[in-house]
Amino acid sequence: MSDGTLFVVAAPSGAGKSTLVNALLNREPDISLSISHTTRPPRVGEEYGRHYFFVERPDFEREIEDGIFLEHAEVHGNLYGTSRTVVAEKLSSGADVLLEIDWQGARQVRKGKPDCVSVFILPPSRTELERRLRGRGSDAPDVIERRLFNSREEIAHAHEFDYIIVNDHFDDALADLQAIVRAVRLRTEWAARRHEALIEELLAP
Ligand code: 5GP
Repeated sequence: MSDGTLFVVAAPSGAGKSTLVNALLNREPDISLSISHTTRPPRVGEEYGRHYFFVERPDFEREIEDGIFLEHAEVHGNLYGTSRTVVAEKLSSGADVLLEIDWQGARQVRKGKPDCVSVFILPPSRTELERRLRGRGSDAPDVIERRLFNSREEIAHAHEFDYIIVNDHFDDALADLQAIVRAVRLRTEWAARRHEALIEELLAP
């Protein structure tokens, strides 16, 4: 069994990353979304284990010391991290895994797993980013201001990613994201391993 591909998707808050990723997972249901741990309080409608594993800061800090995270970072004043063993087990079972994380986490993942495929989502303009963030209605005004302020820092790291998608028209951005996934799966380094048996059969005398 060959290892799956690790996809990393980042974006400033309000670029539409989660909506795009959810739509991608509907189209490509065999990609496994990694559920992160966070010290951020749940938003209305968010569930433990489905959206995040919500934990207290001291517990999160203990988990950092125990080395359970593949990557972790402080984002908008809260800690977020990806479980090392969950991702490793899924990848080694042959499943593709997608991480929705920030640029700091993406950098750590790239260092430890240079064959990951990373994608950065840009909003079409600052005005639109602001409109989407304010229109979301799920965050308090001070949280929105903080996220708007931090968006510049996130966007400044876009060039570190393998691909950049502008989420102007949703359907186009989704098609772009799906095209990346499909193209990666067709790359010889992955496809030759996946189709080893077929190639052998075709070569048999
Ligand atoms: P939100 O609070 O809106 O769900 O997420 C805020 C930011 O934290 C987003 O940029 C999101 O990608 C990032 N984030 C979510 N989970 C993780 C994680 O496990 N690691 C890192 N480094 N960032 C994360």
